[in-house]
Amino acid sequence: MELWFTEKHTDDVNFSIKVDRQLYTGQSDFQRIDVFDSPEFGRFLTLDGYMMLTEKDEFIYHEMIVHVPMMVHPDVRTVLVIGGGDGGAVRELVRYPGVEHIDLVEIDPQVVAVCRKYLPQTACRLDDPRVAIHYEDGLKFVRTCENAYDLIIVDSTDPFGPGEGLFTKEFYGNCFKALRAEGLMVNQQESPFYPKDAIAMQRAHKRIVESFPISRVYQAHIPTYPSGHWLFGFASKRWHPITDFNRQRWTDLGFDTRYYNSSIHTGAFALPNYVKKLLEDV
Ligand code: SAM
Repeated sequence: MELWFTEKHTDDVNFSIKVDRQLYTGQSDFQRIDVFDSPEFGRFLTLDGYMMLTEKDEFIYHEMIVHVPMMVHPDVRTVLVIGGGDGGAVRELVRYPGVEHIDLVEIDPQVVAVCRKYLPQTACRLDDPRVAIHYEDGLKFVRTCENAYDLIIVDSTDPFGPGEGLFTKEFYGNCFKALRAEGLMVNQQESPFYPKDAIAMQRAHKRIVESFPISRVYQAHIPTYPSGHWLFGFASKRWHPITDFNRQRWTDLGFDTRYYNSSIHTGAFALPNYVKKLLEDV
């Protein structure tokens, strides 16, 4: 009998992946955690039945959530990652020798344990000596931070369940306060394509616009997320994502990446008209 993982993307659209076997299932204090093996996407992690990452396409999300801000801010030393218990964002961040310290604030220790065991592709650098893991609610953690980080990466689940607080005005205001004078924040900002997701995206964008002087949205193609069209928010106190993008610094670093490059950096901020309209309408 064939086994399929199915995620409901809308009431009228399902997304299914053929599965070889289920490797793990467990209920943590926060969510149900599942890991599957699949012929097309390799191993993949879902939380409460929602796709978090697959071995085949996680590079797109993690390269875009890390290298875009890192190539705009000229001197990132301290980073706060909120969520991101799979370790993919940390894996990309520790490639930078200038990064001195990373606080990873993940609410669910079981996600980290499961990823360490089943997804070494993303969790492989969580033991880097520059990384401190805090098992706390990110919403609460940022309340106590002031002038502490050059970069905040909000690598959260969707705006319901444990991730809900990470899309609030209070949270973005506290992120602003937690950043140094030249700091910037990026977040995963849902998809613009299906109306329900677009409303969540617009709500997050509006709150970020109200909290930061510079705020833009950039996009990537992520096949296993609803509609495949995914957005990220870029919010900054000083640096502009295009005019302060340092193309030469990226070339000099010589990183081997599979999605991100300097043309993608600038191109990702060029949005389709329907997305521009959604953002103007907030
Ligand atoms: N790339 C993914 C996506 O968009 O589907 C996100 C992956 S990462 C696994 C998301 C993590 O955020 C989860 O491990 C979840 O436990 C964590 N998380 C959710 N709410 C949180 C909160 N309030 N504080 C800290 N971590 C949170």
